[in-house]
Amino acid sequence: MENRLALLGSTGSIGRQALDVARGLGLQVTVLAAHHNVAVLEDQIREWKPELAAVYDAGAAARLRKSIADTNTRVVQGLEGLCEAASYPGADAVLNAVVGMVGLHPTLAALRAGKLLALANKEALVAGGALVMREAASRGLPVLPVDSEHSAIFQCLQGAPGKDAVEKLILTASGGPFFGRARAELEHVTPEQALRHPNWQMGAKITVDSATMMNKGLELIEASWLFGIPPERIDILVHRESVVHSMVEYRDHSVIAQLGVPDMRLPIQYALTYPERLPSPVAPLRLTDYGSLTFFAPDEETFACLRACKHAMRRGGLAPAAANGANEAAVSLFLEGKLPFLAIGELVEAAAQRQPAGEGEPTVEQILEADRAARAFVREQALTREGCQ
Ligand code: NDP
Ligand code: MG
Repeated sequence: MENRLALLGSTGSIGRQALDVARGLGLQVTVLAAHHNVAVLEDQIREWKPELAAVYDAGAAARLRKSIADTNTRVVQGLEGLCEAASYPGADAVLNAVVGMVGLHPTLAALRAGKLLALANKEALVAGGALVMREAASRGLPVLPVDSEHSAIFQCLQGAPGKDAVEKLILTASGGPFFGRARAELEHVTPEQALRHPNWQMGAKITVDSATMMNKGLELIEASWLFGIPPERIDILVHRESVVHSMVEYRDHSVIAQLGVPDMRLPIQYALTYPERLPSPVAPLRLTDYGSLTFFAPDEETFACLRACKHAMRRGGLAPAAANGANEAAVSLFLEGKLPFLAIGELVEAAAQRQPAGEGEPTVEQILEADRAARAFVREQALTREGCQ
């Protein structure tokens, strides 16, 4: 276990739970980073006394500098500040829990600085998987998954003789708040309904991603990169109780699963203590509390995002970056009431298909351009739709 932690996205859902874990483990948090929520960040700075705090938004950074002038914490800003936070010499491990594709830059910065990387920010892997995994491999560094399904698979792979022994990965999905609904029933879904997740308390973006099942599509791509398994060998299984966090099926058809109560502090702690297992604040799993566990096939007709992500990953090249960028833009517009729920999937699919199929490793510049183009496409389409109404 590395003792000095840089926590990016500390004010968010994962960030706050990570601080809870860090408290339990007695870690030192030497770096904190957020976007603009300096009220929460100030409280965190007063408790953890980090050497560095990065605030993406320049105005918020200026406010923070004033309000914590009595402390020894240095405040940096912008993308440059976020990358400085990721590569800061006073931290050994980096937990990247920012939301969105902006997390790609600090992910690369952390690996290039030789940090142990715990990754919650799935968008970085979706958009730049080849690049991220090559940076890690060339330095002999692991990318430790924080996402609960990927942590589960990582745990199920401990002791595996090699990738050849794996037949397939089985990612479980809660199904979100709209499980079992037909497409036509989702036409008038409001942001408030989409933000009501049955099992997990998470940030707004990932909660909407769960409702559209884009989250599972992103996770399929994430798993493919993390474990080097093609998307054809990754199955999705809807499991309403979120107790079986994912599974690995081996060549001999033995299936190994990881179970636990739905509490993100478990995968966060495993990433921070790997390969050790230490006591945690997570409640023990009592299967008799559940009685039975249920499993269903996903409905790709209703949840177009899932289908779109599968296609994007098979297409390769910049298609996943485009799918992710389109989704980020579409979710923001949906939350602002400017795009209907079902349009998210349609636009993700259309944006990914606009990218030519490709093999090989795109550069950061190409990824950023594909992301930008996909967002612009979504905004244009939203305006056209509004005009038609
Ligand atoms: P939240 O929206 O709750 O938090 C996001 C965090 O990122 C906040 O601290 C936010 O700061 C910060 N942030 C956003 N943009 C920037 C930026 N440009 N620069 C610096 N910091 C930034 O999200 P979650 O915690 O739910 O999710 C974080 C990531 O983890 C996502 O990629 C998500 O998919 C993944 N994840 C989350 C799970 C969960 O249970 N929540 C489960 C599995 C994965 P501010 O508060 O100032 O806006
Ligand atoms: Mg997950």
